[in-house]
Amino acid sequence: MTNLNTGADGAIGNTGTIGVIGLGNMGLGMVRTLLREGFAVVGFDLSNDRRIETAEAGAAIVTSQQELFKSCDTIILSLPTAAHVTAVLTGDGGLSSCDDAPRLVIDTTTSEPDVTRELDQSLRRLGHILIDAPVSGGPAGANSGQLTMMVGGSESDFAKAMPVLTALGGKITHVGPVGAGHAVKIVNNMLVATHLLTMSEAIRLGTAAGVEVENLINALNAGSGRSAISEVNYPKWVMNGAFDSGFTMGLMRKDVRLAMALAAQKDIAMPVSELAGALWAQSADALADGEDFNRITELKNTSATNTATKTDPIKAGE
Ligand code: NAD
Repeated sequence: MTNLNTGADGAIGNTGTIGVIGLGNMGLGMVRTLLREGFAVVGFDLSNDRRIETAEAGAAIVTSQQELFKSCDTIILSLPTAAHVTAVLTGDGGLSSCDDAPRLVIDTTTSEPDVTRELDQSLRRLGHILIDAPVSGGPAGANSGQLTMMVGGSESDFAKAMPVLTALGGKITHVGPVGAGHAVKIVNNMLVATHLLTMSEAIRLGTAAGVEVENLINALNAGSGRSAISEVNYPKWVMNGAFDSGFTMGLMRKDVRLAMALAAQKDIAMPVSELAGALWAQSADALADGEDFNRITELKNTSATNTATKTDPIKAGE
């Protein structure tokens, strides 16, 4: 495979060939979008099935990350957790052990700001560039090139990544230095996790009060109580029973755990979100990691409403 690491001036950011590591629900969609946008794409995943599916989409496939490092100057990561990202970048056989030209690494994983900043330090010493560009918009956004991206990195690194970011994203916000993107993504998903719980309570309350669920949703979406959960998740994945969003309970529980850990680290009191965090943690008893994350709305028994009912002060006073 031709080595396209650097331009004639040795500069990184020549995005001729892009490597994507992690070809799951999000990574494969990004590959499809990049191919459509005219980029040459090389993919790697530990899973043979994912590699086959990506080859069928038209990308070149390699069977080790080292091969990918050699053939690409820009590397996109779409991995489950910060630990996976660390392994790929600075673990055995990782990018840091490759005696090769500098690379531009765009980490779209929902990861941890502190880990990202440490990785940035390690890679920068070797001449590589790391930016964090976590995403919102799910597999549909990845497939259509309409992801929302929250980017952390210096102005100049952000500019170098722009050709790739604009191919993948519909809304791209540069939110600060390295690590800031991952902080914003954690905050975003803490809100999504909480909104799913509050929306499921709102639906139970409204329907118990005699309103048809469709009428309730339509009115809420025209009112100030609406959210992405009421406008997108309920109509698209919950009310029709589809539960096929492509985002899992396991990944959302990870994001909620990251939010709780960040709040503890920064000593931020957030009693409402902490209760939501406890309910998401508790949901592991009933919903396996592979289930769709919207299924949390079905767990009436883990809802704060039910907990409150059990200790209803009026009943307690009877
Ligand atoms: P996924 O589990 O479908 O895909 C992850 C892929 O990474 C898997 O195919 C796995 O085999 C591969 N992988 C793991 N370790 C690897 C390694 N060392 N080398 C190569 N491949 C490796 O997950 P996903 O839903 O695509 O999510 C990816 C990331 O994007 C996660 O951090 C998630 O939180 C985030 N995210 C997901 C969504 C969504 O809707 N699915 C939305 C926004 C953000």
